[in-house]
Amino acid sequence: MATQRTLSIIKPDGVEKNLIGKIIARFEEEGLTPVAVRMVHLSQQEAEGFYAVHRERPFFDSLVEFMTRGPVVVMVLEGDDAIARNREVMGATNPDEADEGTLRKLYASGIEENTVHGSDSPENAAKEIKYFFSDVQVFPRG
Ligand code: ADP
Ligand code: MG
Repeated sequence: MATQRTLSIIKPDGVEKNLIGKIIARFEEEGLTPVAVRMVHLSQQEAEGFYAVHRERPFFDSLVEFMTRGPVVVMVLEGDDAIARNREVMGATNPDEADEGTLRKLYASGIEENTVHGSDSPENAAKEIKYFFSDVQVFPRG
């Protein structure tokens, strides 16, 4: 399978619950290696830009408020089939529907506060990585 890169975010609920270490350890165990890591408190504009595709959804304002309430950890993960693999490790958007052992099943409190983000396609992975990182911030340096 091809090596890919995907964008991962540990959302404010995950940071608040002191899950940064556990979540990164899980990614490493699953063959998803961090090649760029940054902690950032998103502004409203940054969160709105990141979730622009959801602008018309009824939960958009609430999602932006949640994503800006505290710092997040933004990462680029690299590995075989990393985009799909990360989505598997994360589990379904709604933790009630997520498989046992997935990050969202283990840690998420609801469909909105679901602990982790992961890119859903190669196109979005490229776009999302670029949104947060310049080439020289991703290792090996581009
Ligand atoms: P995913 O993060 O699994 O790719 P989506 O792209 O559909 O899910 O949604 C983006 C984020 O918006 C979700 O991770 C979640 O935080 C939030 N969200 C999605 N659906 C809902 C909903 N029905 N109510 C509240 N928040 C939601
Ligand atoms: Mg999505």
